[in-house]
Amino acid sequence: MNKSLPYTKIPYADRLWSITTGCTPCSEGCRNCWAQALLRRFPVMGGTEVKLWPNRLSQPAHTRKPSVVFVAPAGALFHEEVPLTFRLEVIKTMRATPEHVFIVLTKRPERMRETMCCLSEIGSNVWAGVSVEDQATADERVPLLLESGWPNLWVSAEPLLGEVSLKPWLDRISWVVDGCEGGAGARPCDQDWQHDLATECRAAGVTHYSKQHRWSTADVAPGYGEIVRPPPTPEDLPFRLAKWGPAE
Ligand code: SF4
Repeated sequence: MNKSLPYTKIPYADRLWSITTGCTPCSEGCRNCWAQALLRRFPVMGGTEVKLWPNRLSQPAHTRKPSVVFVAPAGALFHEEVPLTFRLEVIKTMRATPEHVFIVLTKRPERMRETMCCLSEIGSNVWAGVSVEDQATADERVPLLLESGWPNLWVSAEPLLGEVSLKPWLDRISWVVDGCEGGAGARPCDQDWQHDLATECRAAGVTHYSKQHRWSTADVAPGYGEIVRPPPTPEDLPFRLAKWGPAE
């Protein structure tokens, strides 16, 4: 096993921490889950059943270069089958390695809230987000995220399967990422949905980052009007700026 954390191609992260793998679908956004497909294709990665990897708890401490670390990219840290004691070990590790930024994402924010009941603090290096795919899932999950007690909140609207407005909550969210579904069988993603989300984020002063989009390169990116102020790059995202300041 690699002692340090492996690199990733996720545009806003540097490394992956596969501290749990495997998951079960919980909403429409899961239908074409790339992680499940990957785990089916490469069973050596642990299989699709939920699996804990306690031998990887030391990986962040063995990673010398301060990095943005995406937690459990092919798993679900807050899955019903991940016991509270293990979740607490993971959070303890994140707190003990403040040189890194940890990006946590879930479709199960009620479990994130439950974890908080056993902690006095999480650590300012942790950024917790919910994944939503349409207005119904945003209405259900974002309020739970806000009540979770975790610091540094964000929302991922990917795969975007319908119109989503986050307006009621933007004063408490640091950044929003959206993206169309990718791969074979990808469901439609309307450019207007992305445009409107980008526009309302800009109006509220919230960083909006479009990870995967459907507009042509000849068009102006949705929500940004003339290219007077270009869309943010991964280097402009709040967790990087908060930790390391503007890129040189
Ligand atoms: S919650 Fe995430 S990892 Fe789990 S099945 Fe759904 S999309 Fe895949």
